[in-house]
Amino acid sequence: MTASSDHPITTPPRAPSPVHGFGTLAVHAGSPHDPATGAVIEAISLSTTFAQTAVGKPVGEFEYSRSSNPNRANFEKMVAALEHAKYALAYSSGSATTANILQSLAAGSHVISVSDVYGGTHRYFTQVAKAHGVKVTFTPEIEVDIRDHITDATKLVWIETPSNPTLRLVDIRAVATAAHERGILVVVDNTFLSPYVQNPLDHGADIVVHSVTKYINGHSDVVMGVAAFNSDELYARLSFLQNAIGAVPSAFDSWLAHRGAKTLHLRAREATTNATAIAHALEASPLVISVNYPGLESHPHRAIALKQHRNGMGGGMLSFRIHGGHAAAEKFCQYTKIFTLAESLGGVESLCEIPSSMTHAGIPKAQREAVGIFDDLVRISCGVEDAEDLKADVLQALERAVADAANGVSNGVNGTH
Ligand SMILES: *Cc1c(COP(=O)(O)O)cnc(C)c1O
Repeated sequence: MTASSDHPITTPPRAPSPVHGFGTLAVHAGSPHDPATGAVIEAISLSTTFAQTAVGKPVGEFEYSRSSNPNRANFEKMVAALEHAKYALAYSSGSATTANILQSLAAGSHVISVSDVYGGTHRYFTQVAKAHGVKVTFTPEIEVDIRDHITDATKLVWIETPSNPTLRLVDIRAVATAAHERGILVVVDNTFLSPYVQNPLDHGADIVVHSVTKYINGHSDVVMGVAAFNSDELYARLSFLQNAIGAVPSAFDSWLAHRGAKTLHLRAREATTNATAIAHALEASPLVISVNYPGLESHPHRAIALKQHRNGMGGGMLSFRIHGGHAAAEKFCQYTKIFTLAESLGGVESLCEIPSSMTHAGIPKAQREAVGIFDDLVRISCGVEDAEDLKADVLQALERAVADAANGVSNGVNGTH
């Protein structure tokens, strides 16, 4: 596939069309050759402003870099192609993306959200949205009781599937059907699976959002977010706010994230292969209480995974309960040699963390445990290292951690990080 170099940058080059597969789109969508130099990789356009030939007549399609710039526009085109969307808008973080969408609601609006949303989303819903008069109701079983929660003020439904950190799945089509009966928009946070594994718009969602910080960039070196959707009306509302609020990514970050996304399909496949191998090893271990991984036949929502995920893939994230309580969980994260103890996910390197005392520490214990976030739960983000190495690392850390907990060895020594 060649993008012709005789097109000015303002007109789309021969764009890959939706008939092309994911990998072709990831590599080529929004990636025109530079019309002036033929450069195969776009330049990083640091200019904040763009010349005009007459008042209101910019040379190209750009005027001022907050409103739009070449690197961001190209990144947005690529994400739109990967999410089967007409439009995508990029933001300075996943959290800024959430904030922009919530800001688009009129004061007095009501939102229904799944209970186990990302911590920062929960914080925005409960501590920021209410300041401009938006009320959020949380439900642990949204497919079951969404109709009971809908009021005349309900404007938005917020789903995360898989949920964090228990990897529960939501049937997007079932929720969208109930919401659309009442003209309510459905947003899906697709961060945990990436567009390679799941495309929520194909299952009836109106907006899909990502923390680009995770799989889309994939190299743990950019904080960024994106929303993708098909409606012209949503484009008008959200692009207005993107510019008016100004929480936009830099040209450099847009360029880096675009570069990262070109290998998303390779990374997502490898992460799934690795997570699947580890999930099976954990499930077979007597040192483990339970494993949460949507790629396992034992997962309670496996049927949804088969319906919503590419080839029923489970993605790169999993969590498990270790025997020996919180002490063993903490030891496990200290004894791994390849997995790094750290928050975040979706990078090429494998990470582990303890939700109850790290990512989800802000949630009261009773509320946490009600959704399965016990003190002995360990969350793993599988990178793209070799499956055998990762599996061996998990098993040796498991042995040592559980043995220590049984022997009452205290924490804080022998940490490898
Ligand atoms: C990280 C994350 C966010 C927030 O994104 P930032 O880029 O950190 O602001 C939102 N949702 C999920 C599921 C995430 O993992």
